[in-house]
Amino acid sequence: MSIFSRATVVSIKDYGDNIKEFILKLDNYKRFEAGTFLQLTLKEVTASERWPDSRPFSIASYYNDDKTMRLIIRKVGRYTTKIFDQLVVGATCTVKYAFGEFILPMFDKENEIVCIAGGTGISPFLSFIECLEKEEGLDRIKLFYSVRTPKDYIELDYIKNKVRKGNLFLYCTDEKVDWAENRRINIEDILKNTKDKDRADFYICGSNEFIADFKKELKANDAKRINTDEWQ
Ligand SMILES: Cc1cc2nc3c(=O)[nH]c(=O)nc-3n(C[C@H](O)[C@H](O)[C@H](O)COP(=O)(O)OP(=O)(O)OC[C@H]3O[C@@H](n4cnc5c(N)ncnc54)[C@H](O)[C@@H]3O)c2cc1C
Repeated sequence: MSIFSRATVVSIKDYGDNIKEFILKLDNYKRFEAGTFLQLTLKEVTASERWPDSRPFSIASYYNDDKTMRLIIRKVGRYTTKIFDQLVVGATCTVKYAFGEFILPMFDKENEIVCIAGGTGISPFLSFIECLEKEEGLDRIKLFYSVRTPKDYIELDYIKNKVRKGNLFLYCTDEKVDWAENRRINIEDILKNTKDKDRADFYICGSNEFIADFKKELKANDAKRINTDEWQ
C-alpha cells in the first residue's frame, strides 16, 4: 500500500539545463526501498480524497533520520514548470510513495552493481549509494555517469567521495575537462570494467534512447541481469 504525506521543501539547489534538486521533509516518513519513485502533486490532499494531477519522480536518496527525500527534477513541460514556480523553500506539496521495481538485489549481497546513468538518470543511483553505504556494500557499486557539460553533474563531490576511485567512470560529452572522458560511454568501457557479467546486476537510467542502446548492447553481450528505469 502506498504512503501519503505532506512534504515541505527545506532546500533547493540549481544545476545546469533547467535542473533543480529539491530536499523535501515528510510528515509521514516510512521505510522505502532504494531506487523507487514517488508521485508528487502540488495540491494538498488527504488519502481519502481523489488523487489529483501529479507526476512521478525517482527518490534520489535513501531512508534517513532527517525524514527527508531528495528529488532531481528537470523542467520539461507544463507540470514541471509549475513545480519550479511554486516549490520554493517553505512551500508544501503532497507525495505518495514508494513505487517501482528498480531496486537493489534482495538476496545477493556480493556481486557487482553496475550503474549506467545519463544526465538526471543519476537520481536512483544516489539512493543506491546511500543504501549501500548503510549496508557496507559500497565496494560493489560501479558507476558510469555521463552528462553534457560539467555543470550538469549532480552531487558530484558526494559521488566522488563515496564511490571507490577505480569504480567511478565520468563522461562529459560536450565540454572538455581533464577529470572526465570527453565522449559518450561505450559498451566496451562497461564490459572491461565488469568482473563477472553473468552475475553482475546492470542498472540503466537516462533518456529512452540511452536506455534502449545500453539494454541492446548488454543483451547482445549476454549480460543476464539488466534493470531499466524508464521515465516515459
Ligand atoms: C517512474 C518515473 C520516474 C521519473 N523520475 C523522474 C525524475 O527523477 N526526475 C525528472 O526530472 N523526471 C522524472 N520522470 C519524468 C517526469 O515524470 C516527467 O518529466 C514529467 O512527467 C513531465 O511532466 P510535465 O507536465 O512537465 O511535462 P509534459 O507537459 O507532460 O511533457 C512531457 C514531455 O512531452 C514533451 N512535450 C510537452 N508538450 C509538447 C509539445 N507540444 N510538443 C512536443 N513535445 C511536447 C515535453 O518536452 C516532455 O518531454 C520520471 C518518470 C517516471 C515514469
